[in-house]
Formats: sequence, C-alpha cells, structure tokens
Amino acid sequence: MSKFWNKKTQELLPYVAGEQPKDGVKVIKLNTNENPYAPSPKCEEILKNFDISELRLYPNTDSQIVRDAVGRKYSDYISAKNVFVGNGSDEVLALCWQAFFEEFTKTDLKVLTPNISYSFYPVYSQLYDVALERVQLNSDFTINIDDYCGRPNAGIAIANPNAPTSIAISLDDIEKILKANPDKVVIIDEAYAAFKDPFETAITLVPKYDNLVVVQTMSKSYGLAGLRVGYAVANEELIDGLMRVRDSFNSYPVDRIAQKLAAAAIDDDENYEKNRVALIKTREWSTKKLREIGFTVLESSANFIFAKPNFIEASKLYEILKAKGILVRYFSKKDINEYLRITIGTDEEMEALIKAIEEEK
Ligand SMILES: *Cc1c(COP(=O)(O)O)cnc(C)c1O
Repeated sequence: MSKFWNKKTQELLPYVAGEQPKDGVKVIKLNTNENPYAPSPKCEEILKNFDISELRLYPNTDSQIVRDAVGRKYSDYISAKNVFVGNGSDEVLALCWQAFFEEFTKTDLKVLTPNISYSFYPVYSQLYDVALERVQLNSDFTINIDDYCGRPNAGIAIANPNAPTSIAISLDDIEKILKANPDKVVIIDEAYAAFKDPFETAITLVPKYDNLVVVQTMSKSYGLAGLRVGYAVANEELIDGLMRVRDSFNSYPVDRIAQKLAAAAIDDDENYEKNRVALIKTREWSTKKLREIGFTVLESSANFIFAKPNFIEASKLYEILKAKGILVRYFSKKDINEYLRITIGTDEEMEALIKAIEEEK
C-alpha cells in the first residue's frame, strides 16, 4: 500500500497465477495447464534463422501474418478480417471487457459468468467497472443453459470447456444462448477447446451471429504459453471495436518474433494434431487410474482434470505432492476446496503422479 496509489489501485484484487518454480528447480509441474509437448519444430527453425536486425523495426500492428494463419485454418467459416490478435488471450479478454462491457456498473447492465470459472473474469470486471453476476453451477458442476437465456441486459462470458471444472457445453447450447441474447456480446473463451473429443469450436457459429466473440490461445494447445499470443474471432465490426481500444492503449502488443512463431505454429496442423491426440489419450488413462485409486474425476474436455480424492483431504494431498516435487493446483475456495486441478503431463509424469499418490494410500 502506498499513498500514491489511487483509490482503484488500492481496492484491486489481482489475479493470482499458479506458482512457477524457480529456474533450475526440478519439479513435475502439473499446476498451470501448460502443454507437456514441445511446440512445432517450425518455430525452432524460425528462431534459428531470425535476422536480429529486424528488431530495429516495430512489428505489424494487427499481427497480420497471424490473422492470415487463423483465417486459413478456419477458412470454411471466417477470413483474416474476423481475427484480432493480442498479447495472450488474457489481454484479448481484457480488451473485450473494455470494448464491450466497460462502465456497465453505471447502468443496469451486467455480465453473467458461472460462479466457478476462470478467475480473471472478476478481476477484469473490477478493473473496468463491470457488474458481474456469478451464476450458480448445478451441483454436478454443469452449466444450466437456461440461466443465460432471457436476460436482455446482460453480456455473457463462458469458458468452454469451463475451468477449473473441465466440463464442456455443446455448440447447440451456445447457439441457444446466442439466440436468446441478440443485443449483447457473448464471449466464449476456448482456451481448452482443442482438447474436446471430438473437436468442435464456436468459430463455426461466427458467420451466423454478430454478437459472438470466440477467444483462443496459443498457450495451451500449441505449447506456446511463453510466447504470449492469443486471438479473438468475431464479426468484423466487433473486431474493429477491439482494434480501436487496442490502438488507444498499445498499438504493438505482439512482437515480431512472436508473430512469426505463432503463424508458423498455426500452419503446422500435423504437430498440433499429434500433440492433442497424445494428450487426450493420457488424460483418459489418468482419469481411469485416478478413479481406480479412489478419486471422483469430472468428465474432462480439457488438458487438465478436476479430481476429488475420497480418501484424504485435497489440501493435504496437495501439500504431500508438493513435498514430493509434484505441483498441482489447489483452490481453497468454497464449493471447490475438496478438489485438485491436475494438468495432464507426459505419460511418465502422470505415472509418477499416480505412484506418488498410491504411496500415500
Ligand atoms: C489459460 C487461460 C487463458 C489465458 O491464456 P493466455 O493466452 O496464456 O493469456 C484464458 N482463459 C482461460 C479459461 C484460461 O485457462
């Protein structure tokens, strides 16, 4: 606290990220939903051949080569004009809050989001003066779609699959929400959509709904959390709105190296597909094993599982695993404090996790 902080800064409750071990400390890191596999080998090639003198020049404002790559990947539904690129999807989400929801508190407008969801949504809401209504999940952690219909004064933000529950809603349900809220923006945060089996994305709905914003990230499915690239896909007018806000804050959010690597990774479908299939396979194996040991494991469509140990308190198991050099995520919050969120690692890492848990039984 400092006397120089303004009132808002004093009152902020910032997001708390999962712990990052110090460099050189060897741990099995299953706490922040990073991808266990290396990014596309094309990225390495680009880095090796990168001409350093390029860095004298500012990057392209719009990250055009990344927009082009996303446009190509989903060319049956959208083009580059429907894509907005930012410094991680956290930044893209923040700009969405600013462009579409800011100052909702001065009116009777609200944003609806599940009460258990990505904890950045309340943080942005506080930062941008948005009234957030946190809608109770069903007791099995599923989303009740009807709660998001027939609320004309509400924007909506839903992570799909939801985090930390790992549970997904269907495209039919998303369509129902979009139809019920034609006058407000509906944000579908698809940070984990790549791990849905079979794969589906709300990007396919963008041509039909002018109120839909789909947000994706390179961090989880492309193994590029350290690069900081995310993007929104939406109708052109919404994209223009995001650009206006961006250009009122930081016109160059994505650096030259990140743009090149992101575009190359998006173009490398083979590596992407190989890694997501491997991850899904390990997730299914881990789910089965944990259930056998005595966990309740929710049905996951993400690269993590939300699991409740039935033979020990979750907080205790978290500490035990940490002492053994395995980091998982524990939230000491009401409704979810009996669960652990466990990122899916490599087969070897998950085997080590299972072994460490079995030793405690
Ligand atoms: C990880 C995550 C993000 C942020 O991803 P970055 O692109 O790394 O900023 C956004 N939404 C959800 C639900 C996430 O879990």
